[in-house]
Amino acid sequence: MNKHNLILLGPQGSGKSTQAKMLVQHLGMIHVDMGSALRTIAKKDTYLGRQVNEIMNVRKELVSDELVSKILHHVIGDIDDDQGIILDGAPRKESQIQSVERVLADYDRTIDKAIFINIPTEVSVARIASRFACSLCSKAYVIDANEQLTHDLSCSECGGQLEQRVDDTPEGVRKRLAVFAKETTPVIEHYRAIGKLLEVDGTKTAEEIYHDIVAGILASIEEAK
Ligand code: AMP
Repeated sequence: MNKHNLILLGPQGSGKSTQAKMLVQHLGMIHVDMGSALRTIAKKDTYLGRQVNEIMNVRKELVSDELVSKILHHVIGDIDDDQGIILDGAPRKESQIQSVERVLADYDRTIDKAIFINIPTEVSVARIASRFACSLCSKAYVIDANEQLTHDLSCSECGGQLEQRVDDTPEGVRKRLAVFAKETTPVIEHYRAIGKLLEVDGTKTAEEIYHDIVAGILASIEEAK
């Protein structure tokens, strides 16, 4: 199972990063996080950095398929052939299905399963409004709106400042959820139609969701025998 190539799909706040971390910890898979790679580029004061920042953080839209393919090539090329990967955030729209699969094929990889972590919109908005991370070590924190004025906004691990993501404003979340519904739903339906979708209930605890993911993958390995 740790040699599988998985895609993680789900709206903002569905817990994709948490599940990816658990798959990395327990199975030694490699997490390929497109949003995080793009955030690193967006912080740079270069022509590309300014362009990506404008698209992600001001317009809250998707960057070009071409850039996504380039980043994927770069990242996947550095991963050992015998290590499984978790692709988090790509393909994110129908036109990326082929381009992402083509990059994977260049490294003799195919998608084994697309995991869709499903949560209702209200849950997504509420979770994102409470999402903080340490600006130094990236440790994640959940601080609900009532606590935000009084909570110590420094990291318990390294003392770094806790921050919300620039695109995590309520209006930013609603815009990104609309993009998800329009652009990513066809990707989910594609993998459902070809029998590669594993849909899990994202309102459960992280441990329960992880259990459902592993059980679902093991069941399909058994079925394929
Ligand atoms: P995420 O961290 O997955 O919420 O992604 C943050 C932002 O990065 C998105 O709102 C998009 O602007 C951009 N992004 C991430 N993945 C992709 C992708 N596959 N295609 C286009 N844009 C992406």
